[in-house]
Amino acid sequence: MDELDTPVLDNHLHLDPVNGRGVEAVEEFADHGGTHLNVLNKPSWNLVEAATDESIFRECFDLTVDVTEAADEVLPGRAWPVLGVHPALISQLVDDGYTPAEARDIMQAGLDVAAEYVADGPALAIKSGRPHYEVDDAVWEASNAVMRHAFDLAGEVGCVVQLHTEGGEDFTEIAEWAESEGLPREQVVKHYSNGRVRGPVKSVIANTEDIEDAVETGEPFLMETDYIDDPDRPGAVLGPKTVPRRVRWLLEEGHDEAVRRAHVETPARVYGIDTEATLDASSNN
Ligand SMILES: [Zn+2]
Repeated sequence: MDELDTPVLDNHLHLDPVNGRGVEAVEEFADHGGTHLNVLNKPSWNLVEAATDESIFRECFDLTVDVTEAADEVLPGRAWPVLGVHPALISQLVDDGYTPAEARDIMQAGLDVAAEYVADGPALAIKSGRPHYEVDDAVWEASNAVMRHAFDLAGEVGCVVQLHTEGGEDFTEIAEWAESEGLPREQVVKHYSNGRVRGPVKSVIANTEDIEDAVETGEPFLMETDYIDDPDRPGAVLGPKTVPRRVRWLLEEGHDEAVRRAHVETPARVYGIDTEATLDASSNN
């Protein structure tokens, strides 16, 4: 084990227990000094099929909960599931003949299930958002309604929403929508952020330039790889050892305060998780 003497959280990584490496990817993360993971379910169509009802969402979430439990056992810290509905599902449903309003209802029902897994079960947070590609007005409107439903649910159960959206930096309008649905903007986390995102809390993709930008802002941030655990697309995204490697680099550069911000303070403030107390004493020394 490669010890870094600090908790190391990858805030957004997928594990695919059906087609991918699953826990083996977690072992690679831990071997390089990684300690904590937020594990996102893969889109339902990758794991099961394009979800059209609640039972398919449940099947997809249960697979993710199981592989996250297995990850939890091999980590010196903890792994938590983050469950939700991929915004691109709307396009698949519309292509299959559903109206945007029907697709919205299906996706909102999926989010209801995700919120139930937070309220009564093992999940830490919900994932939602809107397409990162061009869509027509009806699909855009339906997608925004899905996202606002996620904010409403998260406000009720008291959890974070991880957002998948289009690229850009100014997401203050989305943060305002969250607040109008009863969710504080500090509990909205923009996944795949660059270092300068405004509005939600940024979960910064672990490229050196983006991390440097985030460090410079002095604001709360998280780090992630968006590892997709897909054997057909090796190298399509950053690998599971990237966040520990960037932490090592930050420490070498003297950015101890930023490491603490991203891996201890921001996780505590945003999710209410204690990455230090959940680290095994044996692996901390
Ligand atoms: Zn992802």
